[in-house]
Amino acid sequence: MRPTDVIDVAAAAAPCGLRPANAPEPAPAAAATEGWVHSTETCGAVDGPGIRYVLFLSGCPLRCAYCHNPDTWHRHEGTLTSVAELLTDIGRYRGFIQAHGGVTLSGGEPLAQPRFVKALLRGCKAMGLHTALDTSGYLGALVDDEMMADLDLVLLDIKAFSEKRYRRLTGAELEPTLEFARRLAAIGKPIVLRYVLVPGWTDHEAEIRALAAFAAGLGNVQRVDVLPFHQMGEHKWRERDLNYRLAGVAPPSDEAAERTRSLFRAAGLQVS
Ligand code: SF4
Repeated sequence: MRPTDVIDVAAAAAPCGLRPANAPEPAPAAAATEGWVHSTETCGAVDGPGIRYVLFLSGCPLRCAYCHNPDTWHRHEGTLTSVAELLTDIGRYRGFIQAHGGVTLSGGEPLAQPRFVKALLRGCKAMGLHTALDTSGYLGALVDDEMMADLDLVLLDIKAFSEKRYRRLTGAELEPTLEFARRLAAIGKPIVLRYVLVPGWTDHEAEIRALAAFAAGLGNVQRVDVLPFHQMGEHKWRERDLNYRLAGVAPPSDEAAERTRSLFRAAGLQVS
């Protein structure tokens, strides 16, 4: 679930695309399980620590006003792919990503396909790979204990911190995401919190302070990423004849982004 487009800064430097000569085959998993995949990225540098194999899964129950990837909303717009096929491809990069990063399941909303995600995580852990889940947390109740055990890190988008603004922004309820965050905190599962800053939508200082206090109180938030909104996804809405509600909204200034980061820092959180 990537709310903003990503620039692959490491692709040029990393030996991606090459299979290490000694790369072992992936371990067996629930190989026959199939799911809908939008795309893959073999050298992701911004979806978790290090260099990552990123799987963007299709399907999402939210409709975020700032979504840069509305082409991931409907699962059948993706490609039906088996776990075995994906694990074989991930295995080609195992030697490199095991040492330098891991695998991130993103989307869309990966938890819209929980059985598929579970099988993929199991297969990745069987290969000894670090795993991350990039999610809104809205479907966090679908993460069972086995899936949780195979997860090393959750990249959690908390898109707003009042029910009213969250619903206006996403069309969904906020509480399931907060419940998921509390559950992760209760077992000490690390979170990287992501917050997209949109002028007039998510820049209310009191609300950001409240979110920062909530996040700091969890005790398992490793870092907060404040992501300035930009308009790079607008054309996808237009191409699909969708009503883009953020037309004309300017990106936040550097000062506004820094002020937002300072609110999270003031709560004692590490901020990128
Ligand atoms: S949660 Fe869904 S709608 Fe929101 S930004 Fe992510 S993919 Fe787009």
